[in-house]
Parts: sequence; C-alpha cells; structure tokens
Amino acid sequence: MYLKTLHLRHFRNYQEQQVEFTAPKTILVGNNAQGKSNLLEAVELLATLRSHRTFRDRDLVQEAEELAQISASLKRETGISTLNLILRRNGRRTVNLNGENLRRQMDFLGILNAVQFSSLDLELVRGGPEGRRHWLDTLLIQLEPIYAHILQQYHQVLRQRNAFLKRNIETSQGAPVQTEELAIWDVQLATAGTRVIRRRERAIQRLAPIAKKWHASISGSKEILQIKYSPNVPLEQNHSEKVQQAFLEKLQQRTIAELHQGTTLVGPHRDEIELTINQTPARQYGSQGQQRTLVLALKLAELQLIEEVVGEPPLLLLDDVLAELDPSRQNQLLDTIQDRFQTIITTTHLGAFDSQWLNSSQILYVKTGK
Ligand code: ATP
Ligand code: MG
Repeated sequence: MYLKTLHLRHFRNYQEQQVEFTAPKTILVGNNAQGKSNLLEAVELLATLRSHRTFRDRDLVQEAEELAQISASLKRETGISTLNLILRRNGRRTVNLNGENLRRQMDFLGILNAVQFSSLDLELVRGGPEGRRHWLDTLLIQLEPIYAHILQQYHQVLRQRNAFLKRNIETSQGAPVQTEELAIWDVQLATAGTRVIRRRERAIQRLAPIAKKWHASISGSKEILQIKYSPNVPLEQNHSEKVQQAFLEKLQQRTIAELHQGTTLVGPHRDEIELTINQTPARQYGSQGQQRTLVLALKLAELQLIEEVVGEPPLLLLDDVLAELDPSRQNQLLDTIQDRFQTIITTTHLGAFDSQWLNSSQILYVKTGK
C-alpha cells in the first residue's frame, strides 16, 4: 500500500498542511518540537484510530479549535481510497471512507496499515503489562478490525461491572450483596472477555516465531527470544466454552475480594505478555542496546505479520529511532525496508543517514507545523 497524500487541518500544531509523498522513503527533518512526530501520529490514527501518545482527542485538536481533520489518499492493489477522520474536543469522531460517513469505526480500520516504532517502544520491555497489552491490541486491530469492536464491548461490560461493585460498597453497608445482578455481569464479562483472550492468544502464537527469528538474526547469537501470552484467566485449552467456564470459576473465587475492593480483579485487563531472553525476563536482562534489539525484532515481526495477513506491506513509521541503533542494527533495519515498505522517518539531523539513503529519499523540512 502506498500513502500518496496526507492533509492535516487543526491537528496538533498544524494549522493546515498538505503533504505529497513522492518516494517510498520520506525523511522528516527538523528541530525539536516542530511537528515531526505529530505528522506520524496523524498517520497512526488513520491506521488504528488510536494514538500511542494520548487517549484524549482534545490533546490532538489544535489549541483554540473545536475539531481537527486528517485526510489521506491511499493506493492499494484494490484501488485508491480516501480516508477522512474528524476529531473533536469532546471525543466524538466522524470516520469517512471514500466520501461516505461510516456508522461503525471498525469499517474504517484495515484500510491503511502501519507499524509505528519510536523510542517510547522501549517501554514494551521496561514498562508494565499495560503497555504490552496496548501494543498487542493495536496490532490485533489491524490484523482483524472486528477486534476493535470486541475490545470495546469488553471494556464497556468491565466499566459497568466495576460501577456495580463500587455502588455495592457504598450502599450495602454490610447488608447482603445482590448476587443475582452480579451473576448477570459475570456471564457478560466472561463472554466478552473470552473473545479478547482467544484472539490475543492466536496473535501471539503467530507473532512469536517470527519475532524469534528476527531476534536471532539481528543479535547474531544464541540468544533466544520467547514471547509468551500469560492470560489472567488460565487458558488450558483454547476452546471458547472451556475458557468461559474457567473465567466464571475464577470470578467466583475472587468475588469476596472484588466486593471488598469494589473493582473487577479477573479478566484480560490483567493479562501479561512475557518477553524473555534465554528464559530471563527481558526487563532484567541485558543492556539498553539488547533491549532495543528486542524491540526492533518485535517491530520487524509486526511488519511481516501484517503483510502476511493483509496481503500487502504496511507503512513503517520510524520516530527518531535510527540514531539510537548501532550501525549494524541500522543496516539490518534499512536492508529489510529497502523499497518494500513505504517508510516515513523523523530525524533532527540528516547526518544519521548514508548518501544512498539520502539520494533515494524524499526529504521534507518541518518547521512550526509547516
Ligand atoms: P522532537 O524532535 O522533539 O521529537 P517533533 O518535531 O517530533 O520534536 P512534535 O511532537 O511533532 O515535535 O510537536 C510538538 C509540538 O506540537 C510542540 O511544540 C507542542 O506544543 C505542539 N502541540 C502539541 N499538541 C498541540 C495542540 N493540540 N495544539 C497546538 N500545538 C500542539
Ligand atoms: Mg518527535
């Protein structure tokens, strides 16, 4: 797939800007705080309807404006698509494909695919499980757009169940709990949660061997990367009814604690994705460089998996990461990209690129949102 044009209006520090991508590789160069990452973020939003930098749409809308607009023209093997996303301060969104407003956001997903790689991704190794869940969910949304809907349903039930548990603490004052209502929430949570669990399991199953191969190839050593899905509800057999049963059993075991704490303690919102190298948790393992190698392997695996599933190479968005890799890892990445993946790269100085790259890339200078 090829992103031909991008149009930003009142998005972050962009007043209004049209960008034409004239080569498979584009380098955005500029000083700090000029709008390089903002531009990548706009592409990320078109691909996933999520930003890895914020959960609040009001952060994305330019100061003193009510709404922001991101539009793009994308060429795929099946033809040209026009994507249009309107973000509002109050969080309401409009998604429009080829001139038609879509009722369901998931119909907008899967048109443009992109893998984002920024220095924040080191948090995948160093940070807590929440970041890894968010990463996996974002990948899943692109592999199977219906997952966006599945995840949303789960979070909705989770919020309602939490509200019930909290209300119960406030109102019951030692009186017996309304277990009938809780039982209804339990079934809904287990049903919605099982869908999330099974898809996460499948995605990791597919991703893990690809990442392992990339990791071996980059590190050039006997280091073995293992990615393991560690669901909060045990997955002895990946069979919907069995998972649902295990989910309900675990909920029953934790009911007293949940009623006491006023929050749901069981479910995929507490899943972990374990990253280990030679069976040592990657967080405790190795140098910063080794952790970067791991993240690079994950990103290359994402690219490959999306390409396999979708049937076309996704875009690659590289935010400031090239300078952080040593020359051999840089080359590994650049060799993989070649002209196979349309790539947009940000940098503060062109010195990080060799002449071959500079000659084959479109170079755009970014200054104060222009
Ligand atoms: P660096 O090299 O430091 O990563 P960058 O060019 O990637 O810089 P961006 O993150 O793209 O910088 O842009 C940051 C700029 O955008 C900041 O000046 C910030 O104040 C501005 N900005 C962010 N959100 C908004 C907004 N909603 N309205 C107006 N300006 C915004
Ligand atoms: Mg930046």
